[in-house]
Amino acid sequence: VIEIRDLHKRYGDLEVLKGVDITAHRGDVVSLIGSSGSGKSTLLRCANLLEDSQQGEILFKGEPVHWKGQAGHRRPGDPKQVLRIRTNLSMVFQQFNLWAHMSILQNVMEAPLTVLRRDRAEVEKAARGYLDKVGIGDKCDVYPAQLSGGQQQRAAIARALCMEPEALLFDEPTSALDPELEQEVVKVIKDLAGEGRTMLIVTHDMKLAADVSDHVVFLHRGLIEEEGPPDRLFGAPQSERLRGFLSATH
Ligand code: ATP
Ligand code: MG
Repeated sequence: VIEIRDLHKRYGDLEVLKGVDITAHRGDVVSLIGSSGSGKSTLLRCANLLEDSQQGEILFKGEPVHWKGQAGHRRPGDPKQVLRIRTNLSMVFQQFNLWAHMSILQNVMEAPLTVLRRDRAEVEKAARGYLDKVGIGDKCDVYPAQLSGGQQQRAAIARALCMEPEALLFDEPTSALDPELEQEVVKVIKDLAGEGRTMLIVTHDMKLAADVSDHVVFLHRGLIEEEGPPDRLFGAPQSERLRGFLSATH
């Protein structure tokens, strides 16, 4: 579904991604791990076409992203393509970014109604279904501030699901939560992985990465230092840097 090839991304003089390749086939769960500043969030933002880049390709279902501008300043150039790809790659952020002035149900219904222009009755039915699925079906009519962090993040996941995307992109979905609330969200992510959804997950939770991933990528200073199936990456890390990183996170 998502393929990134030799992606280079610079902020001014700072080269954040130095040629990264990542592929998530349909049904794959790919986790991205690495130290703070290694470029994980930048890579997700690039995949979701929120960033310009300097070099490399991004493909969505085999379709290459069209770029506009020169190598140093190119950005996704076709607004229709950007919208199509972005609505098919729903992103869930560390800070859940729910709209404070809308009820939970309205939050989940908003994008399918306004961006996809779907039928209101159908969207409402789907939204209630997704809120049930993440375990907060009884919270439809309350506002985000009335929910715990774990419930808000589950609402954000329901909102992403309601777009019926081809893939979900998670950027540290549990890192803003207290440990006991974290587990509620981990459970939802595990359920989604079990359904065969395509997901790209940035996480510092090695247990989550080990449990749900088909493939784990360890990013170090903008380059893939090591990657592979979770058993091998966590069980028998080859690189010194990955070994150091794993021992520091336990
Ligand atoms: P963390 O684990 O702390 O979230 P990360 O791996 O997600 O880290 P990124 O957020 O991708 O790291 O940032 C990679 C580098 O790019 C960092 O050095 C960061 O300071 C820099 N950076 C990120 N966003 C910008 C920006 N908008 N402008 C300039 N530099 C940026
Ligand atoms: Mg980050």
